[in-house]
Amino acid sequence: MLKTEPSTIRMFSFVGGLLIFLIWELLSPYRPVTVSKLKRWIINLAFTGFNNIILSLLFAAAIVQACQYVSVNRLGILNSIEMPHWQKILLTIIILDFMLYIWHLLNHKVPFLWDLHRVHHCDLNMDVSTATRFHVGELAISKVITLCLILFLGVDVYGLFLFETLVIMATQFHHSSLKISVWFEKFFWILFVPPSMHRIHHSVIIKERDSNYGIIFSLWDRILGTLLTDIDQTEIRIGVGSYQKQEKLNFHHLLMMPLTRRVR
Ligand SMILES: [Zn+2]
Repeated sequence: MLKTEPSTIRMFSFVGGLLIFLIWELLSPYRPVTVSKLKRWIINLAFTGFNNIILSLLFAAAIVQACQYVSVNRLGILNSIEMPHWQKILLTIIILDFMLYIWHLLNHKVPFLWDLHRVHHCDLNMDVSTATRFHVGELAISKVITLCLILFLGVDVYGLFLFETLVIMATQFHHSSLKISVWFEKFFWILFVPPSMHRIHHSVIIKERDSNYGIIFSLWDRILGTLLTDIDQTEIRIGVGSYQKQEKLNFHHLLMMPLTRRVR
């Protein structure tokens, strides 16, 4: 039960979210596309399939076993504190989201990590499929960090899978190209990350890109001074300045991109 149930919910939320946001984007897109949506989707979904096969083989069993090991042996910080299970799960989500914020910030500040992370940022349009376009190297390093965090914090399988499901929902929503009322985005922005906040992060302008690192909560950007709000949304150009030709951004180009010349 422990091995299959939460991961099945996570998979359904991924596929369900992808379909719901795709239909919503087709009915009410934030802006017209500038490159073929179909072509980008094929590339981005190729990454999803490829990454899932590699990461499942390398990490899926180890991560579930690490969670079970710390729970059975009551290891890690969260297991050394007496508190109700729901509070432990809430604390897990808050701590892991902060760790994800730090990891995302490092992906922009450390040159070697940016070499991998630019694969995500060089998508020329941003939509829900962008949420799944990551280089396998970036995800593999993040899985090793996740394993270390599970052991150090004492994260149980329910806390981890609930966190990962929330991350999927949050990233799918804030990458989506959706027309949403301004008042809703402003309200949502108080605590969470709406598409307008993340759109600034995908700007070709480096000062704008080096802001708004939050994934679930906007809180960390607010506290640590990386929040940028006052940008004309209609003027934002998506992508990385040096990569402007879609024909140079096919699957094999993106896979090899970290080995090519470093660009900001
Ligand atoms: Zn980024």
